[in-house]
Amino acid sequence: MGKLLTLAKEIIFPSRTTCFICGREEIVGEDDLCDACRESIHLCICPPAPLPLDGVSAGLLYTKELHEPMHRFKYRDKVEYAAFFCQYMSIPQDWSIDILCPVPLYYLREMKRTYNQSELLARRISAIYQIPYCRDLLEKTRNTATQTRLNPAQRQRNVQNAFKAAPECKNLSVLLIDDVYTTGATLASCAKELKKQGASKVYALCACKTDN
Ligand SMILES: [Zn+2]
Repeated sequence: MGKLLTLAKEIIFPSRTTCFICGREEIVGEDDLCDACRESIHLCICPPAPLPLDGVSAGLLYTKELHEPMHRFKYRDKVEYAAFFCQYMSIPQDWSIDILCPVPLYYLREMKRTYNQSELLARRISAIYQIPYCRDLLEKTRNTATQTRLNPAQRQRNVQNAFKAAPECKNLSVLLIDDVYTTGATLASCAKELKKQGASKVYALCACKTDN
């Protein structure tokens, strides 16, 4: 079929695919979103980083529309969603990063889930920015209760000393990669361990940030 004819057909019968957020068959753009859902997403402006983090950035505001897609990404094997979230994740220009490190899951949890969603994000960011990533810089040493229903103080206690950093992080500027930033308790706990082992800087880049 001629190019013109294809174009004409596309204008009269635009192709419909599934929208990433609402899941409806709609006309979606290159960002995998229908027009209504594109209106519903908001880029995130991040607050100052909690110590000992040197900086925090996140892609999207974690509005209610994104809860279901994030749940499918984390727990329902929708590994391909990493590409969607990564569209909005960018490393600020004034951060000089040596290595990326996903926030680890406890090994039994990762075995059950078969993947770590933060590692999927880290792998993509690594390919986009051509910065190596290493999943072994951090280890989660014990299982922790899910942070979802805990208040900020409980969250901090819950993840205290739950991570161990490898000595290989010494003198490196590390960028932690995570899915959702809530109070920053998990990221701060990771940063503390990395700095204990001599990391020069620790930043964090997340797919989403809650509105709190
Ligand atoms: Zn939609």
